Amino acid sequence: MTKHILVLGGGVIGLSCAFELKRRGFAVTLLEPRTCGGQASGAAAGMLAPFSENVEQPDPFFKLCLRSLQLYPEWQRAVKEVSGFDFEYAETGSLYTIYHGADIQAMESRKLWQNEHGARCELLSAHELRELEPRITSDAIGALHYPGESHVYAPDYVKALEAACKRIGVVIRDGLEQIDIVRWNGGAEVRSAAGERFCGDTLLVANGAWAGLLEAEFGMSIPVYPIRGQICAYETPDKPVRHMVFCSQGYVVGKRNGTLVCGASEDVAGFQTAVTRRGIARLESWNGKLFPFLGSMRPFHEWAGLRPASQDGFPLLGKPSRSDSLLIAAGHYRNGILLSPVTAHVIADIAEGRNPGGSAVAAFDPERFS
Ligand SMILES: Cc1cc2nc3c(=O)[nH]c(=O)nc-3n(C[C@H](O)[C@H](O)[C@H](O)COP(=O)(O)OP(=O)(O)OC[C@H]3O[C@@H](n4cnc5c(N)ncnc54)[C@H](O)[C@@H]3O)c2cc1C
Repeated sequence: MTKHILVLGGGVIGLSCAFELKRRGFAVTLLEPRTCGGQASGAAAGMLAPFSENVEQPDPFFKLCLRSLQLYPEWQRAVKEVSGFDFEYAETGSLYTIYHGADIQAMESRKLWQNEHGARCELLSAHELRELEPRITSDAIGALHYPGESHVYAPDYVKALEAACKRIGVVIRDGLEQIDIVRWNGGAEVRSAAGERFCGDTLLVANGAWAGLLEAEFGMSIPVYPIRGQICAYETPDKPVRHMVFCSQGYVVGKRNGTLVCGASEDVAGFQTAVTRRGIARLESWNGKLFPFLGSMRPFHEWAGLRPASQDGFPLLGKPSRSDSLLIAAGHYRNGILLSPVTAHVIADIAEGRNPGGSAVAAFDPERFS
């Protein structure tokens, strides 16, 4: 008999899992209190940058990010094909800028271990950097160039995922306001604010920064909490920035629609998604240092989202042993857009009773804090 999975949460993680589970033959109902993509996923810069985001060592998190980057070309093609909806997927590569001679040695050793994992990274001189990115600050003395990193336009990607899910028969119910869990062991049942009941065989919790609120419900430690990210965009129809450009304080990404997305702050503000003057001013100051032409411009759009951070920085992925009907996919922090294909594959493998990739996935055991 077809197994029925209830997915809690309509962000990139819930939608990606729903898409893959449905493709593998499960019946899927996705439940969202507000609108799909209305939280962190719609707010993201959309960078797919495992090398620029993981600079220390090839730990299991880096390997998960890398696996996901490798899945992206095929994954985004499938989402576009099924949804009939185009979204930007740009294989621009990225530049991680360097400002001091003293940093060169650290960059050399980063390049060494990352190239062992397929980064194809090169250390560029100031002159080579300016050839690739002519409008960069003259303070930069070089950069690490990662030709294999890419980015998507996150709001459109999430819309396409939602459309793709609907096309293949995922039932999506949004605007439910409140969703209460009635049963999560021996089957799944939840109830909406209006009293509507939804039943299934398995409950997949994919509610991002809100996952930690379910600790008491499941009687286990789920140290996932919101970290606000403030971000802004400039109107730049002449497309002055060609790559994703990082410095230690932030990043700048040029989008196909002529906007330049610059992020992002990190602060603790509970579940507040308002921007602050201070947060945006700090971004503006760094943007102007990285690209001097931005010093005289003002962002035309400012927004914020809640990254689902976990205590150890790793997501919680898998099946807690305390229930035969519960799956968790939460805590993707700064990399949920990048990690969406691999998360969908891991969760669908587990739902099918298959091994999703051995020891690498053990590091993300959702019960590791309990
Ligand atoms: C400013 C910013 C920039 C970012 N840039 C990048 C980037 O460049 N690259 C990258 O990979 N990642 C980036 N991220 C991180 C990325 O956005 C997140 O990791 C990702 O969106 C998390 O997806 P999610 O589906 O888990 O959470 P969300 O998108 O927050 O979705 C969770 C959903 O669950 C719903 N929900 C809440 N409670 C319940 C409940 N009880 N039942 C059911 N549903 C519920 C919410 O309404 C929400 O729609 C960025 C984040 C921010 C804020």
